[in-house]
Amino acid sequence: MARVRACFIWNVFLVLFFKGGVALTGNFWHITDLHWDPSYRLGDDPTSVCNSSGNRPVQGAGKFGDYACDSPWDLINSSIYAMKNILPDPDFILWTGDDTPHVPNEQLGEKAVVDIIRNLTQTIKEVFPTTKVYSALGNHDYHPKSQLPAGPNYIYNQTAEMWKQWLDPESQNLFKIGGYYTERLLNRPGYRMLVLNTNLYYSRNKVTQDLPDPANQFDWMDKELTNAANQKEKVYIVGHVPPGFFEKKRQTMWFHQNFNVRYQELIQKHHAIIMGQFFGHHHTDSFHMFYSPDGSPISTMFLSPGVTPWKTTLPGVVDGANNPGIRIFEYDTDSLLVKDIVTYYLNLTYANVAQARWEKEYRLTEAFRVPDASPTSMNVILDRMAQDSCILQKYHDFNSVSYDLSTCNADCRIDHVCAARAIDQKDYDQCVKDGAPPTGLFVAMLPVISVVLSIAWPSL
Ligand SMILES: [Zn+2]
Ligand SMILES: [Zn+2]
Repeated sequence: MARVRACFIWNVFLVLFFKGGVALTGNFWHITDLHWDPSYRLGDDPTSVCNSSGNRPVQGAGKFGDYACDSPWDLINSSIYAMKNILPDPDFILWTGDDTPHVPNEQLGEKAVVDIIRNLTQTIKEVFPTTKVYSALGNHDYHPKSQLPAGPNYIYNQTAEMWKQWLDPESQNLFKIGGYYTERLLNRPGYRMLVLNTNLYYSRNKVTQDLPDPANQFDWMDKELTNAANQKEKVYIVGHVPPGFFEKKRQTMWFHQNFNVRYQELIQKHHAIIMGQFFGHHHTDSFHMFYSPDGSPISTMFLSPGVTPWKTTLPGVVDGANNPGIRIFEYDTDSLLVKDIVTYYLNLTYANVAQARWEKEYRLTEAFRVPDASPTSMNVILDRMAQDSCILQKYHDFNSVSYDLSTCNADCRIDHVCAARAIDQKDYDQCVKDGAPPTGLFVAMLPVISVVLSIAWPSL
């Protein structure tokens, strides 16, 4: 009997395997916001360690950097070699931009920006010579910073040339015009990557703010996603500046309002084929949920932490630094479902006094006890953050890559929950006004709770 059962199981396995029914797990790296500061140097004068510190004191400068500065080359190099040591042969790499330091425009120029992008590109190519890289521009990958135009220019052109080995000829041509492109994911039929230039929607971009659809990117995106749906493709979307709000400062939205609305509409329209969105710019570890008009979770935008530890100078953010972070996504190669996320980090203080030890910070499914990183699971995490101060605190510790371990108080809770829950201004305002109440399961359970209460206390 046992033999018959074993044969049956084996036959089922063979059928599933040869019909391609066994879902395989693939993995890829996501790195973002490397912000190399070539001026970083150690010496006796703490006021002249790096240009990216501005006038701020540089207290703990060491070989691998300082929280007041952007990345020295040793940190950049260490992060890319850490990727090679931890997962040397990923399916592909996502690299979502911001390569240059936070310094005034006068200290950079077109050539300086292109040289920095080239140095990072060459290093990634040297360390991962045969790996496909899907690379997006950040708002700092232009001169003057954040002013990325809606048409051909020197920097798009130069970048397209240096990324040639990662781009199909058609992608290269499109990139030279608008800084965006699409390709089959790893050349496999049925799978697609859309790499966007959302810097065109950035609220600090003055050259595109009056255009209805800069570089026709929204129109193109709509058409590509419609085609992808017709071809029954699954899609990942990659970009730098995300829509929605910054969790570390109340009411800080990155996109111009009209672009923010349009982006959300496109995700709602095409969510059935969009299996993940991967962005940077925040330098923090966070995520944005997208919902259907009836409130169901339909898509997640994963915001990966930066490599630079640089403490933001954004007014109103208290001690907004982070430890350098890099992360691996594990995904179902058949459905493109994001199954798990493993974040690795460098404790910068330890690295400077001892050695550069990149260690696992956390695995999403272990830390938050969810089965995967699907929109449903991410929404469960968000609901738990809203209800459970222990889960909120855990998320908050990870948010700065274990740098800021202070208590996340009531205001902090609203900031984080509402930024993760609302893309749209009205939804965000409502969330803040209501004090970021839990949704989902808790709300669904409310009628049950009411019935139980009315039975237990009929006079209520
Ligand atoms: Zn950045
Ligand atoms: Zn940025």
